[in-house]
Amino acid sequence: MKRIIFLLAALSAFCTAALAQDHPWKGARVAFLGDSITDERQIDGPNCTFWRDLQDIVGLEPYVYGISGHRMNQIIGQADKLREDHGDAFDAIIIFVGTNDYNGGVPLGEWYTYKDSTATYSGPVPLPAKYRTPSLDPKTFRGRTNITLSTLKARWPDKQIVLLTPLHRGFAQFSDANVQPSEAFSNRIGLFIDEYVEAVKEAGAIWSVPVIDLYSLSGLQPAVPGHERYFRDAEKDLLHPNTPGHQRMARTLAAQLSALPAKFPKYVALTFDDGPNTVVTPQVLDLLEQYGIPASFFVIGSNITPESAAVMKRAHDMGCDIENHSFTHPALPSLTAKQMQDEIARTSALIEQYTGEAPRFLRPPYLAMSQSLADAVDLTFIGGYCPNDWDASVTVQQRIDGALANIVDGDVLLLHDFAENSPTVEALRTIIPELLARGFEFVTISRLFELRWPDGRPAPHNVMYRNVY
Ligand SMILES: [Zn+2]
Repeated sequence: MKRIIFLLAALSAFCTAALAQDHPWKGARVAFLGDSITDERQIDGPNCTFWRDLQDIVGLEPYVYGISGHRMNQIIGQADKLREDHGDAFDAIIIFVGTNDYNGGVPLGEWYTYKDSTATYSGPVPLPAKYRTPSLDPKTFRGRTNITLSTLKARWPDKQIVLLTPLHRGFAQFSDANVQPSEAFSNRIGLFIDEYVEAVKEAGAIWSVPVIDLYSLSGLQPAVPGHERYFRDAEKDLLHPNTPGHQRMARTLAAQLSALPAKFPKYVALTFDDGPNTVVTPQVLDLLEQYGIPASFFVIGSNITPESAAVMKRAHDMGCDIENHSFTHPALPSLTAKQMQDEIARTSALIEQYTGEAPRFLRPPYLAMSQSLADAVDLTFIGGYCPNDWDASVTVQQRIDGALANIVDGDVLLLHDFAENSPTVEALRTIIPELLARGFEFVTISRLFELRWPDGRPAPHNVMYRNVY
């Protein structure tokens, strides 16, 4: 028996450790928007906040923007500040929807406005249909919620955004002028808190935003005798949880969040044209090594010498792709089919000779494509998104800005590692850490296709890919 208990204890310790280690929000950089329940300035002495506990329990990194008294129409201002401070370098947003709209008597309003329209269901004749658009009335709670969520979802389509419903409200008196009745009373326009809570849940469905229903799940109900102990002041503040109350919230949130991903995959393929050489290519490899990331090198066959081949082999051994960029760097469409095939075959043979692996992808020089090229060459064509780093007059900063502006999941970033191009190495010292901070994972071209087309479907032949999604 003793032994079984010992085993159970060991197992339970193991499971606890495994859970803590595997929590999907561990290490996630999470913005907390909301009101006084979230506001950092509310922390004093015995009063902690739930996100600080979450930091301990889950290991997430909180970026806190909640401000006391804020209502739904002020959440976007908090998100603007988040963008100002962190740009795109965070993972998720958690919005605590407080009760200031309810307490302030903000009308609920409508989710949609409707009009009579027509739609084509089948056949050529449009039939009558109703048509709805989200109400964007800033004076109503539903309109404000629509404005907030449509804005945040459009601004950060790749981020997880989570809504939290409010907590139950007990009586609070912060001054003679600031007395707030408990939720047993309707607000001044005759509505009870439940209707606002329901609206938050409906908003989650409308905008496809996960809702964690703290109103029920937190277990905090100040109207029940004995539950005052979870609030700051049994006489004057049954609105704000104290430290045990926040800890209860945090435990609940940790469990609920474990069912949601904190972030979603975001890939970028870093690619280099016009190598290999023994000057800039090794510097690029040193940087890749430093950050532990792979890239893809589209090499020119005539650049491959025994010395540069050793660099190419090093790249291959590091897990980089070595791909084809022709033998003499001509505009391939101007050649005959035979000449095109010769350009490609000679380069592929050298790559295979030195790395043991034949290329599967071609980047046509000058990104010059034609149907005759597609017909002549049986490789997948890769374009890319280039900050014109082949042009010596483009500064390091312009290369950085050009590479980082508008970059999205699945993009192929096209840079050059020819021997004179040290400004691009300088630019990479900023580009790589910034993309990592934004949550991108660096993958090779071949891996990008594997990840996005896992059924092995061959790439359509006459397309040049600058993004794979
Ligand atoms: Zn080139």
